[in-house]
Amino acid sequence: WFFDAELQMAVEKRLSIETDLHLAITNNHLELYYQIQMNGENIPIGAEGLLRWNHPDRGLVLPDEFISIAEESSLINDLGLWVLDSACRQLKIWQLNEKTRNLEIAINISAVQFKEPNFVETVQLYITTHHINPTNLKLELTESVALENLELVVIKMAKLKEIGVGLSLDDFGTGYSSLTYLKKLPFDQIKIDRQFVSHVATDISDAVMVKTIIGLANNLKMSVIAEGVETDQQIAYLKQYGCNLYQGYFFSKPIPIKEFEALIGLDF
Ligand code: C2E
Ligand code: MG
Ligand code: MG
Repeated sequence: WFFDAELQMAVEKRLSIETDLHLAITNNHLELYYQIQMNGENIPIGAEGLLRWNHPDRGLVLPDEFISIAEESSLINDLGLWVLDSACRQLKIWQLNEKTRNLEIAINISAVQFKEPNFVETVQLYITTHHINPTNLKLELTESVALENLELVVIKMAKLKEIGVGLSLDDFGTGYSSLTYLKKLPFDQIKIDRQFVSHVATDISDAVMVKTIIGLANNLKMSVIAEGVETDQQIAYLKQYGCNLYQGYFFSKPIPIKEFEALIGLDF
């Protein structure tokens, strides 16, 4: 019954997260943080939007604590819509300023959300309603989207590309990473997972992985971005291997919008 008590606590924690998340959406406790993405010339190209939850009692809660719970119910769709809306709103603001009009925002799309029958129409609706340039919006998907019906996934992705949004393959190298999927799915970009990037300068096999992924991306005419870049040594290796886009603590952690705008030198 020791186990029972532990199990019960886990179930209760999960339930309270679910209840609280509903409140978070209605009470506006969600916030999109921005992590800068840089090119090889040290010029900001945009940011990845990462969801944060400002919990009234628990403080800042990171996505690892609530995304998977949200994915077990329709909550993930509500969160996903909130993020999409928030990113489009920001893009609209940036679009009106010539200093920021080319910046892109990448947002993470859960496989559960992608699977919704009307996902493509929803994305189109938000782009139209906010009057944003679709090419500045990038959707980050993981390979888990392809676990379902591959043909349907290909059709959906093709429709999204028709709309004009970018498609980036997140966490590449950690999942099944089937080359068949990669060839069939119309991604514009591959994100090299942090686990390889963090050892690119020190571990031969991780360096080989990174080189291979970059070669693959080049051959498939996809761009490639390294995530989790923390040192200039890692950048030197990535650059040498042909990767020219970077994101990681070396440049900045994910930060609130005001701090991000200060970081890129915007003053209001
Ligand atoms: P991800 O999309 O792979 O995001 C990258 C994660 O790595 C972020 O964690 C980021 O803070 C962290 N990171 C970035 N650079 C570095 C670095 O140099 N060093 C280290 N140690 N970490 C770095 P975060 O924000 O906690 O997000 C975790 C995951 O939660 C994300 O992984 C993504 O899968 C998911 N997530 C975040 N926001 C959303 C969202 O709006 N919707 C969905 N569906 N998932 C989200
Ligand atoms: Mg991501
Ligand atoms: Mg990632």
